[in-house]
Amino acid sequence: MTNKGGIVVSVPPRTDTARTGFDATSAEAGASSGGSTGGPCRFCGAELRHTFVDLGMSPLCESYVEAGRVNAMEAFYPLRVYVCHECFLVQLQEYVTAEDIFTEYAYFSSYSDSWLAHCRDYVERISERLQLSSDSLAVELASNDGYLLQWFVPKGIPVLGIEPALNVAKVAEDKGVPTLTEFFGAELASKLVGEGTMADLIIGNNVLAQVPDLNSFVAGITTLLRPEGVVTIEFPHLQQLVEQNQFDTIYHEHFSYFSLLSAERIFAAHGLRIFDVDELWTHGGSLRIYACHAANARLGESAALAALRQRELEAGYADIATYSVFEERARETKRKLLEYLIDAKRAGKTVVGYGAPGKGNTLLNYCGIRTDFIDFTVDRNPYKQGRYLPGTHIPIHAPEKIAEVEPDVILILPWNFKDEIIEQLAYTRSWGAEFVVPIPEVTIY
Ligand SMILES: [Zn+2]
Repeated sequence: MTNKGGIVVSVPPRTDTARTGFDATSAEAGASSGGSTGGPCRFCGAELRHTFVDLGMSPLCESYVEAGRVNAMEAFYPLRVYVCHECFLVQLQEYVTAEDIFTEYAYFSSYSDSWLAHCRDYVERISERLQLSSDSLAVELASNDGYLLQWFVPKGIPVLGIEPALNVAKVAEDKGVPTLTEFFGAELASKLVGEGTMADLIIGNNVLAQVPDLNSFVAGITTLLRPEGVVTIEFPHLQQLVEQNQFDTIYHEHFSYFSLLSAERIFAAHGLRIFDVDELWTHGGSLRIYACHAANARLGESAALAALRQRELEAGYADIATYSVFEERARETKRKLLEYLIDAKRAGKTVVGYGAPGKGNTLLNYCGIRTDFIDFTVDRNPYKQGRYLPGTHIPIHAPEKIAEVEPDVILILPWNFKDEIIEQLAYTRSWGAEFVVPIPEVTIY
């Protein structure tokens, strides 16, 4: 027993290993852990032995539970992230195959207004920059519901989407975006090239993290890209994840977490050279890298690229010790959020959620927040309405439910859209609702 802040806490004996089949003691040893390892690095093959953060056991964050399945067994997998000491790729093991995760995917990209505007803006700029025409081909890897490629269509620029999830690919086809329902990799790229298809522009937004066979994916890009072609890839920036404490953006569907340094190394290994980078606000801070064939001397390195590379080096992203401090910050955020919710519930407040994003599911499962704290959440996506959050089984309703219930507290789970959401929910101020955003630290609006 320990006495902390007047609360007596009984510490039970540890039984984690027997229950979960993995050793919790080595996870606590953090970056210096020497016991179990995470298997070979997805990129370079070195044995993974440094834990970046261990978020415990969690269900697949996009496996929303149907009403008829709430009493059924649910699969939980370790959410333990490693960092490679050779190439500094931060990564999860592939506990579940990509086929299991992505063949029916609940994430429809078109449900966020600001994300759609971001994509439209990108299409305008890149079409101009690369002078794309009716003779060009823009290929998007993981094209989802055509949320991005649709903006090329009225410009007369031919497009091809590649999207393994049948349900979202169907929506893209209906928008006039030709879509192949397959997983992209070296094999598919060779097949396409064999059929005479090569790309002037290859786009990959928020897909690189989700690729289990990273080397095959990047090799496929090299194959499919015309000699003068350009590839742009957007991914959440590891430096933002670390500095903004975004541990909730870690989920089983995201196998890898990239710095510019690790991305450059991976692309270089496949004959591609990154020549420019944009820093974006999306997903809590992303990078958009621009790459070309290493042999393409026409495109020189930008000042922005050199500056970011230098910044990462100075911040220690090529030093394994830098990665060992993250776990304690995640734990402290959990304690602060629980502290806030416990106080709110003791004061008799009604608490609901807003949004049902993957990141919300990592947060709620890690923190152990269920309907004991949050009555329900709401989401604009009709696919999620009427279902339950994985693991925590918090019901998901349509956004109108908030006006009906008039809750005291609204916990905003997709914190990257907090400004947009607070604006949409301005009407809740009429009964004095307060907004809580959990990341980077618990903040009340
Ligand atoms: Zn490695």
